Amino acid sequence: PTLRFRRINNREEKDYFACSTCRDRKDCTFFLWVDEDVTEDKSKSWDLERERILPKINHSELIEKLVRIRQKKSRKRAYCHTCSVLLNSAELSNHSTHTLTLKVSDFQLTHPTELLKPLESSKKEAQYLFSKQSTATIVTALCDLGAKHVVCLGTPRIHEFILTEYEGRLTSLLLDIDHRYHNFYNKDQFCWYNCFNNYFFGGESSAAVLSQFLQKGDGEGVVLVTDPPFGGRVEPLAYTLQKITQLHRKLNPEAISDLPVLWMFPYFMEPQILASCPGYNMLDYKVDYDNHSLFASGPKGRKHGSPVRIFTNLQPKLFKLSTEEGYRYCDVCERWVSEENKHCDKCNECTSKDGRTYVHCDICSRCVKPSWLHCATCTRCCLPSHVCGEFMPSSKCFICGMEGHKKKECPLHEQTFQVKT
Ligand code: SAH
Ligand code: ZN
Ligand code: ZN
Ligand code: ZN
Ligand code: ZN
Repeated sequence: PTLRFRRINNREEKDYFACSTCRDRKDCTFFLWVDEDVTEDKSKSWDLERERILPKINHSELIEKLVRIRQKKSRKRAYCHTCSVLLNSAELSNHSTHTLTLKVSDFQLTHPTELLKPLESSKKEAQYLFSKQSTATIVTALCDLGAKHVVCLGTPRIHEFILTEYEGRLTSLLLDIDHRYHNFYNKDQFCWYNCFNNYFFGGESSAAVLSQFLQKGDGEGVVLVTDPPFGGRVEPLAYTLQKITQLHRKLNPEAISDLPVLWMFPYFMEPQILASCPGYNMLDYKVDYDNHSLFASGPKGRKHGSPVRIFTNLQPKLFKLSTEEGYRYCDVCERWVSEENKHCDKCNECTSKDGRTYVHCDICSRCVKPSWLHCATCTRCCLPSHVCGEFMPSSKCFICGMEGHKKKECPLHEQTFQVKT
């Protein structure tokens, strides 16, 4: 299944279907105007294309293989990155020209994110892994919230951490588009899934795995944690979350509350998320990553720390953040906030979003970024370097939403966002 997009050209709107997952048409060339005829030729060429693109997966066989591989000594195990399969030493000769990892350890078998090479294509999988600290913090927070069963939607690190460190306390189900996880998890632990259109590649039996999981504990203690690609559009993701929440409700009509959701996304996407998910709140916690220099803390990271936050339908005060990491509780806002996020008595809230302390402008009657100054000509606060009259909200960078540069100079350039079509 594809997604329906809209292209607006000279005020003329035209709808078309295109791939929901590949945000680069080079990765997936599927394109169809809504009013276009589906000819037999077209239909045939799609079948061929599907045949070519979709990996043939026999999950049961892969699981049997995993069981056999587990029994072998580490020096007799390998993983072929070219074919995406686990191997025993007897099979190596067929893969001699391929990229291999030899001597797969027990740890790697149970922590596939440490073995697989992250697919970093920003226009597709965009795999950026949580740091150890963030993984632990998120799972601890889940436990504090009373979670017992965690749906890990695009969060393989959380999944493997729960399975290995929280056995007996938490259960976990991974939903992800990366089919390589078939090699490491059985049918109750992993569904091959597309979050942009709520599609299960494994058909009804795979969808049933999620339904079963959502009914654990009669639906109490089930939570969903997701970290989808930041380049994807918010609307279909929000729609998917809504669908899963409705399913949880339908399956557990007696459950006290709706399915709690934790959605990791950059702070500058807050307006889009709140537009699609009214009632959600953005937490101040900065989510750190391992393999993304822009989103990690430390010397290589951004000056103001990671821009990634947690959006949730739960009350913010339920998320206790670590005082050791500098977070504190604001009594007025009733939520945990970062060190630099000072409470503004005039706005009556803790106003920082981007990791800096915002400054209140009495003329604008709101807090603004510390680098801004009030401009009498433009009658608003702007970067001092702005050209009067040229400042419009739309002159913000299209990618990161910050002022002062165009999308080509954006530090998040690699993460290029899907352009509104
Ligand atoms: N920080 C997370 C990983 C997030 S990276 C962690 O450490 O666990 C984004 C994840 O979403 C990857 O696992 C990627 O394979 C998955 N993903 C990307 N596109 C997807 C899609 N269309 N549907 C489902 N999962 C997707
Ligand atoms: Zn595609
Ligand atoms: Zn406050
Ligand atoms: Zn203020
Ligand atoms: Zn001002």
